[in-house]
Amino acid sequence: MLGSWFKKNDGVVVDTHVTRISRRLELTQQEDAPKIEQDLMQIIPRPRWTDFSHEVIWHGRKLCVARSPKCAECALEKLCHAGDKTWSTVEIHMDAKL
Ligand code: SF4
Repeated sequence: MLGSWFKKNDGVVVDTHVTRISRRLELTQQEDAPKIEQDLMQIIPRPRWTDFSHEVIWHGRKLCVARSPKCAECALEKLCHAGDKTWSTVEIHMDAKL
C-alpha cells in the first residue's frame, strides 16, 4: 500500500506468489513470510522493493504458477533450478518432464 500509493519502499510484499517464486529461484530458503521478506530486503535494492513485489506476483499469476509452471515460456528458465520445473535447458534438469 505505502509503496504503490505513496512511493515508499518500506518492505517487500510476501504473498503466496512471492513465497513460491523466491524459493524456486533460491532467493530464500525460508518458509515464513517475515523471514522471506528479510532475505529479500538483503538482496533487492530498496528502490526496487515495491516494483519487485508487483513483478513477482505478476510472474506468479501468468507463468510461474503453483502447479505446472510454464517454464518453456519463462525468461528466467536458465537461472532457475527449481525441483518442480516442467521444462529445462539446464543440463542438470534435462530429465524434467512436460
Ligand atoms: S523456470 Fe519455471 S519454475 Fe523457474 S521461475 Fe520460470 S516458470 Fe518458475
